Amino acid sequence: MKRKDFFKSLSLSAAAGFIPFSNLFSKEMGVQNFNKDNSGVNISKLETFVFKNATFVRIESSEGISGWGEADHDYPKLTASLIDEICKPIILGKDPFDTEYLWHQMIFKGEDAGSTGLLPGAIAGVDNALWDLKGKLLKLPVHKISGGFNVDKVRVYGSFGRGDNPKTRKGPEAMAKTALDFVSQGYKTIKARMQIRQLNVDPDPDDTFEVIKAIRKAVGDNIEIFVDYNNGYTPAKAIALTRKLVENLNIAAIEEPVSYHNYEGLRQVVEAIDIPVMAGEHEFNRWQMRDLITIGKADMINADLIKCGGFSECRKVAFMAHAFDRYIMTHNTRPTLATAASLQLVSSIPNAARIQEYAGSRPEMGLDKLFDNYFKFEGGYLFLPDLPGLGLIVNEEAMRKNKLN
Ligand SMILES: [Mg+2]
Repeated sequence: MKRKDFFKSLSLSAAAGFIPFSNLFSKEMGVQNFNKDNSGVNISKLETFVFKNATFVRIESSEGISGWGEADHDYPKLTASLIDEICKPIILGKDPFDTEYLWHQMIFKGEDAGSTGLLPGAIAGVDNALWDLKGKLLKLPVHKISGGFNVDKVRVYGSFGRGDNPKTRKGPEAMAKTALDFVSQGYKTIKARMQIRQLNVDPDPDDTFEVIKAIRKAVGDNIEIFVDYNNGYTPAKAIALTRKLVENLNIAAIEEPVSYHNYEGLRQVVEAIDIPVMAGEHEFNRWQMRDLITIGKADMINADLIKCGGFSECRKVAFMAHAFDRYIMTHNTRPTLATAASLQLVSSIPNAARIQEYAGSRPEMGLDKLFDNYFKFEGGYLFLPDLPGLGLIVNEEAMRKNKLN
């Protein structure tokens, strides 16, 4: 139907009383057509569970079924208080299936608390818990109810760092040993995090080359090595060091070469070197991700499911990135519900990178006792749990017994 004929038909229908023509372009049109009946399920309770290294959220529904999600792990008590003060009043009594509505209410009503940083990290915990709840209510994994991509296992790389305490920071030998530990577990790709960060830009002396040299010597020539500069350099230094590491030690990718405030600098690095540049763990919403892609030109987008607004927001970021031929390589250093949410995301999008970050089960964090199951890991792959929701079974008794709040 031609455009003119379409409008003509509308006005005829309006004259016949079928469509209020004046409402065609008004917001009220949507409201009039909106079915106000909800799914029949309401959110009846929200609780936070604070641990030294984690913040978990439990959302209970009127059906008696509950969902669990992980929020940002930085400042767990602060994150929990944001959830209690900003998110909780917004979601109580609402339909848990309205995740889009609830997400936008939480971000815009709470925006003065910060649209980057802890608030999107807090919202992430609530949003992830809602997805877990929706899956459990529908008795399907999250990747199925969000639009599955026919994936049953996800290749992961072993991620490990030097530590940022100058007294205990790992040197070349200790880093090589950790690298070898990962390789012996079946990883074919590893990433060494330099943890240089903002306060020590362009360190002098700088032993990054020596660290990677020791790792390469330990793991041999057939292991793929990524290097995370953790925002440690100015563009010129990052470019020079990367060229040296590529030429001499055959590294395969670098991450966050420069300050995350410096997208122009990031672009300079991307354009100057011949290996992919990853970034995205300091972008907390779709708008920052837009600038990371269009100004910074990062090759791989490291959306973090517990920082960047949760499953709902990271899924939007994924599809936006797809339009720019960018791939999602989730940032993920947490072993339990954050890993679960990452797995669900990368198995339900068309542009998951060929490999994803995983820091191992990290028993030293003491979170394993809070869950009754864990992911199957074999040959450098994590297998998707086929349980409803995010796929981890929470031991509620252990959660309540060990929480700090
Ligand atoms: Mg990183």
